[in-house]
Amino acid sequence: MEEHNATEFNDWCIGCGDFGILRSEELLTDELKLDYKNFVVVSGIGCSGKTPHFFPNKISGIHTLHGRALAFATGIKLSNPSMEVLVQAGDGDTFGIGAGHFVNAGRRNINMALLVHDNGVYGLTKGQASPTLHRGEKTKSLPKPNINDSINPIALALSVGYTFVARGFAYDVNGTKELIKKAIMHKGMALVDILQPCPSYNDINTNEWYRKRVYNLDIDPVVKSMDEVPQKINAAISRSYEWEEKIPLGVFYQNELVPTFEERLKENIPDYDVNYPAIQKIEEQGEANTVYEKLLQARKVA
Ligand code: SF4
Ligand code: MG
Repeated sequence: MEEHNATEFNDWCIGCGDFGILRSEELLTDELKLDYKNFVVVSGIGCSGKTPHFFPNKISGIHTLHGRALAFATGIKLSNPSMEVLVQAGDGDTFGIGAGHFVNAGRRNINMALLVHDNGVYGLTKGQASPTLHRGEKTKSLPKPNINDSINPIALALSVGYTFVARGFAYDVNGTKELIKKAIMHKGMALVDILQPCPSYNDINTNEWYRKRVYNLDIDPVVKSMDEVPQKINAAISRSYEWEEKIPLGVFYQNELVPTFEERLKENIPDYDVNYPAIQKIEEQGEANTVYEKLLQARKVA
């Protein structure tokens, strides 16, 4: 990625919740002492998509296509499972055009983390209703109230296999930092849905509106035996629907007993963890190693 002064370059609107998320990341990357050579931030399209450019530390970043951040991230992680992969995408990006990728990343339980900058609108394109804007709400760019029902990101993630599911609030910088840290350290596919005020286009779910409602969740989210899964998921989904009066923040669910996709791959490819695609030679003595017969031979299935 090109080098620049991220602070001068940043063009998010004044008061945008994205600044809170970025500040959380600045604090956590210092705390985790991450090896930046092995840390990549993958984003989609939208205001959140600019995050890799503004990231406070020298990381690797890739700003991809609308709705496809998870698909790119999956490719990076599976070709090089030693990489720490953090995905940052918007609510329109993730639950609109990217909904299929969101569902399938959960089913696979890939060992990476997704942060959703959830502001209820498509901010970069002037505030159209996104899939998380509730029905009946009329933000300032809409000529009439929204007639679509909204997606509940927490409930959706829990029903499709995410093994770490949390909700943060962009201006609770320390709380969000802790949630992102837990998501990165979790073994499996993690979602942190971050309520992110967009002062330019969402004049309903504002910073003040959230501050009156948010509180810390008081459930034990950790699964200690697979028998507990239905009860823990039901409890988490039920709490995730609290919204109008009170909005819970924190970890809704955490289960490290489910095998990750990388572990499932290793069952079929025993040397996958030490001879993963990113370090395999693609050519030897002028001959491509991608010849089908050679691949079969290497896997001893020919
Ligand atoms: Fe933030 Fe909204 Fe401005 Fe985008 S349009 S930078 S989300 S305030
Ligand atoms: Mg959005």
